[in-house]
Amino acid sequence: MNAYVEKVLKEVEQRNQGEALFLQAVKEVLESISPVIERHKEYQDASILERICEPERQIIFRVPWQDDKGAFHVNRGFRVQFNSALGPYKGGLRLHPSVNLSTIKFLGFEQIFKNSLTGLMMGGGKGGSDFDPKGKSDNEVMRFCQSFMTELCKYIDADTDVPAGDIGTGAREIGYMFGQYKRIRNVFHGVLTGKGLTYGGSLARTQATGYGVVYFCNEMLKDRGTSFDGKTVVVSGSGNVAIYAVEKAQSLGAKVVAMSDSNGYIYDKDGIDLSIVKQLKEVERKRIKEYANLKKGAVYTEGCKGIWTIKCDIALPCATQNELDGEAAKTLLKNGVIAVVEGANMPSTPDAVEAFINAKIAYAPGKASNAGGVATSGLEMAQNSQRLSWTFEEVDNKLHQIMINIHKNAKEAAEEYGTPGNMVNGANIAGFKKVATAMLAHGLI
Ligand code: NDP
Repeated sequence: MNAYVEKVLKEVEQRNQGEALFLQAVKEVLESISPVIERHKEYQDASILERICEPERQIIFRVPWQDDKGAFHVNRGFRVQFNSALGPYKGGLRLHPSVNLSTIKFLGFEQIFKNSLTGLMMGGGKGGSDFDPKGKSDNEVMRFCQSFMTELCKYIDADTDVPAGDIGTGAREIGYMFGQYKRIRNVFHGVLTGKGLTYGGSLARTQATGYGVVYFCNEMLKDRGTSFDGKTVVVSGSGNVAIYAVEKAQSLGAKVVAMSDSNGYIYDKDGIDLSIVKQLKEVERKRIKEYANLKKGAVYTEGCKGIWTIKCDIALPCATQNELDGEAAKTLLKNGVIAVVEGANMPSTPDAVEAFINAKIAYAPGKASNAGGVATSGLEMAQNSQRLSWTFEEVDNKLHQIMINIHKNAKEAAEEYGTPGNMVNGANIAGFKKVATAMLAHGLI
C-alpha cells in the first residue's frame, strides 16, 4: 500500500475508534485506490484522502414520538452529509434498530463513490434512525416520521440534500416524511425521492435497484459468454431490492429457488412464486415463513445464514451488510457458483470478497451493482425539476444504459490499473477519480 494511503488509514482508524463498519468500508476503498494515488501526486498535495474520509457535516438529533397507548418514546436521528463535490447530498434513510453513527457513516461513504459511478450530479449522504417500524401501527409510524422530519427539514432541500428510502423506509414512510416537510417548509419540490406516483415519484423507481442488479449481472455473464437463461439463482432478503431482482431474473429465464428475511429462509425447488412473496411482504407485511404454508413443496428454515448452502449458479445478496461471510463464500464456490452480484450494501465480508476475487468468478460489489436505485432517484430529481413525468419504458431504458455504463467504466478502470476482472478495484477507482477531480477544482473546502 502507498505510504500516504497507509498514513491516512491509520489516522482515520485513530479518529473513528469503535466504528467498525465505517472503518471496513474506508479500508476497502483506500486499498483499491492506492495505485491511483501513486500515479497522481496532486491528490496527496491537496489532502484529498483526509478530506474525503471526513464527512462535511454530521447531524444527530432527538426524535420523540408517542405510541398508540400514549406512552412517550425517544429515538436517535442521523443525517451524514458526506461529500457534495458532484452535486446535492443524496442517499437513503435507514430505519432499523441496528442503526448507529458508524452504520450511517459507512453507508454515506459508500454512497459518494456509487453516486459518482452513475454519471449523474449527486453527492454522497445517508441518514436514518434506530427506530424499528416492524410491529408498529401506521399511526405510530406516521408520528415517528413527522417528528423525524420536523428536525431533518432544517438541513435538507431539493438543491442541498435529497434523502430517499432504504431498509425500513418504503413508500409509506417517504409519504409521511414528504407531507411533514411540505407542511413545515411550505414548498412542494423534489426534496425526497421514492415518492408516490401521484405526488412526483418516478415510474420504475420501485423496481430500479433490483432490476439494476440483474442488468449489471447480465453484463458480467455476457462477458463470460453466458446469460441468466436456465440458471439457478438464490436471492437473500425479501424487501424492495430482493423482490425486483427476483422479478427481473425470472423474466430473463432464471429459476430463483430461495429468498429470506431476518428470521429465516424459504427453499422452493420448483421456483419461487413471486406473487405470493409480494402479497406477503408488500401488502400484508408478514414473515417469509408464511410462504411455506401457501406453496406446496416449499420448505422454511429458521435462521438466515443457511441460505448460502443452497446450490446455485448465481447468488444475489440483497438483505444487509456482512450477511455473507468467508464460510458461506467457500460453500457457494464449492457448489459451483459462477456469479455473486450484490444488491445490498457491503453484504459480503472482506474474507468472502477475497475468496470470490481469488476464484475469479463474476463478483460485483454493491456500490457498482446496486447503483440503479440511486441512479433512478437522480432521474426522479430530473423529472421533478422539469415538472414532468417520463414513461416506465423511458426510465427503465435510461436505467439499463446507466448500468451498462457503470459496468464498462469499472471494468476499464480495473484493467487500466492492472487488475482485470477485479470489479472492487474498478468501481472504487472509477468512482473516486471523478470525485477527486471535482474536489481539486473546488479548492480547499
Ligand atoms: P427492505 O427493508 O425493503 O428489505 C430488507 C430485507 O432484508 C428484508 O427482507 C429484511 O428482513 C432482510 N434483512 C434485514 N436484515 C437482515 C439480516 N440480518 N439477515 C437476513 N435478512 C435481513 O430494504 P431494501 O430492500 O431497500 O434494502 C436491502 C439492501 O439493499 C440494504 O443493504 C440497502 O442499503 C440496499 N440498497 C437499497 C436500495 C433501495 O433502492 N432500496 C438502493 C441501494 C442499496 P426483515 O423484514 O425480517 O427485516
